[in-house]
Amino acid sequence: MITIRNLVKQYGTHCALDHIDLHVEKGVILGLLGPNGAGKTTLVSILNGLTDFQEGEVEIFGLDLGKELQAIRKRCSFIPQSLALYEKLTVLENLRFFGAIQKISGNTLRDNIDSALSINQLHSLRDQKAATLSGGQKRRLNIAIGLLNNPEILYFDEPTAGIDPELRNDILETIRSFKDHGKTVIYTSHYMPEIEKICDQVAIIDHGRIIRQGPLATLLQEEKGDSAIIELLNAGETQLRQLVDQHDDVDLLNATTLLMHHHNGTKMGRLLTALETENIALKQIRYGTTNLETLFIRLTSQGKEHV
Ligand code: ATP
Repeated sequence: MITIRNLVKQYGTHCALDHIDLHVEKGVILGLLGPNGAGKTTLVSILNGLTDFQEGEVEIFGLDLGKELQAIRKRCSFIPQSLALYEKLTVLENLRFFGAIQKISGNTLRDNIDSALSINQLHSLRDQKAATLSGGQKRRLNIAIGLLNNPEILYFDEPTAGIDPELRNDILETIRSFKDHGKTVIYTSHYMPEIEKICDQVAIIDHGRIIRQGPLATLLQEEKGDSAIIELLNAGETQLRQLVDQHDDVDLLNATTLLMHHHNGTKMGRLLTALETENIALKQIRYGTTNLETLFIRLTSQGKEHV
């Protein structure tokens, strides 16, 4: 459905995408994961025809992106992180307006509005002005607008940023349900648990290169057995950061958790002695546990900046 070969994007002398290859099949939810500045937005912008590129080939639906952009765009939708809606219009008026500017009309517009309202549970709010919606409801309207052309591919850029956990789960379930309708989703997020929850495949991008891609389950399986997660009870983050700097192969996973790569008795003994010296109590050690977060930290050189 999406095939990228040898894609290069330069901003002046800065190489934002460095010979990227990526293939995404129909019906897949692909999580695009990477540290700040890795190139995720640039890649999604290129796929939406919003940014040009210097080298490589991009095919979507078997069509060449450079030559058939308009035909491709009609079948895709990009749902930006920022809300793109009119506060003074009602939910329904917003949908009609954005349908009209995409030249969707008649029965198609009516059916697509109906479906977008249902998927996003907005039927009961259809006559309410967007200004009076909650943050989560506005986010849902943003998604509904993105569904008006009944897209085959949806690109999401951090759709749950800044909303509370309950609404976040609702939105994740909605996105997950697109798969049942045969839609393909490219999902960019910094929240690794979200990517683990809804994505079938993951591409990890760092410094403009895709450093790992494949089915999430396979990537995690390949990693198994090599790392240990050390959970602590009373640690201070500054104290832990100092410890991390003093120990090879140890990263900070979050404010009370350390990750040791390639663990062995000597390294673990040294770390436990240091914890004791610092009066940091141990909650538990889990050996061989891998999740997307531990994989990401191991693979990206900037992992420590993203915990
Ligand atoms: P984030 O998670 O912080 O949004 P990202 O992975 O989306 O980051 P991009 O926004 O794609 O990263 O940026 C990739 C690199 O290209 C960064 O080094 C960024 O500074 C640079 N860059 C992006 N847009 C431009 C631009 N218009 N001009 C120059 N450099 C740019």
